[in-house]
Amino acid sequence: MLVLLKRGVSETAVSDIATRLRMFGLSVHRTDHGGQVRLGAVGEGGGVDWDQVRGWGGIESVEKIPVPFKLVSRAFQPHETVISVGRCAIGSRQLAIMAGPCSVEGEEQAFIIAAAVARAGATVMRGGAYKPRTSPYSFQGLGEEGLKLLRRAADANGLAVVSEVMDTQQVSLVARYADILQVGARNMQNYSLLREVGHAEKPVLLKRGLAATIEEWLMSAEHILSQGNTQVILCERGIRTFETYTRNTLDLNAIPVVKELSHLPVIVDPSHGTGIRNKVAAMARASIAAGADGLIIEVHHDPDHALSDGAQSLYPEQFDQLMGQVRTIAEVLGRTV
Ligand code: PEP
Ligand code: MN
Repeated sequence: MLVLLKRGVSETAVSDIATRLRMFGLSVHRTDHGGQVRLGAVGEGGGVDWDQVRGWGGIESVEKIPVPFKLVSRAFQPHETVISVGRCAIGSRQLAIMAGPCSVEGEEQAFIIAAAVARAGATVMRGGAYKPRTSPYSFQGLGEEGLKLLRRAADANGLAVVSEVMDTQQVSLVARYADILQVGARNMQNYSLLREVGHAEKPVLLKRGLAATIEEWLMSAEHILSQGNTQVILCERGIRTFETYTRNTLDLNAIPVVKELSHLPVIVDPSHGTGIRNKVAAMARASIAAGADGLIIEVHHDPDHALSDGAQSLYPEQFDQLMGQVRTIAEVLGRTV
C-alpha cells in the first residue's frame, strides 16, 4: 500500500507511523516527492485494517499500488531515480555511456581500451572478470586479478567501473573493486543473488533475462529494492525470439514501456542485443532516440583475438564515431552526454 502523509508532518510523526506499520509485519520504504512523504508499506500484511490506518493522525490517504512491482513503480515514486557514479548521474538528463571489453584479458588490453573509450566520452568502463560462458571450456575470466586491472585502467582514465557478479559469494569481492555490480541476463532470476546485491552498498545493473517478460524483469528489480538497495539500473540486452540472423532481438519497446512503469533508469546493451559488430551502432542510436538513459557497449582494439564476444565488439574508432552521433541525437532530445 502507498501511505501518503500530510504535508508538513514532523519527522517524529513519520517515524511513528512507520513503526506502527512495521508492527503489522510490513516493511516500510520511504520516498519524498513534491514536499510530501510517501511510505510504501509492503509485505503480506493480510490482517491490516486499512480503513483504520486511514484515520491515523498525519495520514492524508492510503492507496493500493496497482502493480506487483511496488517499490519499482511510478505509483510509489513518481520522479526519476538518479544514481550518481563517478562523473555520471545515471537517469538524469545526462546520458550514461559505459564501454569496454566483454572480458578483461590483461594489463595492456585493459589500459588501451580504457584510454580509447574515455577519449571518446564514456564515463564508465565495463569489463567482466567473472564470465558466464555457455561452454565450460571457454575463457572464464581473470577473477580478482581482472578486477584489479580493470580498476587501475579505469582510474588512470577517470572512469568508473561496472563488472559482473555471478554468485552470492562474489558480491563483497566485486564490490571492493567495482562501482556498479552487474547482474547478468542468466542470473536475472537468481533470487539469492538479487537478495545479496540488495544488501550491497553499490548500485546494481540488472540485465533483462534471455526469456524474461518486462514484468518478470521488474519483479527481479523489486527483489533488490525490497532489501533496501534502491540504486538499480535496468539494462535491456535483447531477448530470445525465433529470429536467428541476430544473436538476440533487441526489444526497444521495453524502453518506453519501462520508463512509464518505473522510476528506475534504463540503459541498453546493443552489443549483446545484436551480436554483430556492424549492427551495434544502428541499435545504439535507436536506443537513445527511444528514450534510453544510456548505453553499455563492448569495445575491443583487437576483436579478432578477443577471448569473448569479439564479433560484436566495436573498434575504438567505430565507438568514437558512434559517440559523435549519440551527441547529436541527445541534443535533439534535450539531453547531454
Ligand atoms: C556481458 O555483459 O558480457 C554479458 C555476459 O551480458 P549478458 O548477461 O547480457 O549476456
Ligand atoms: Mn559479452
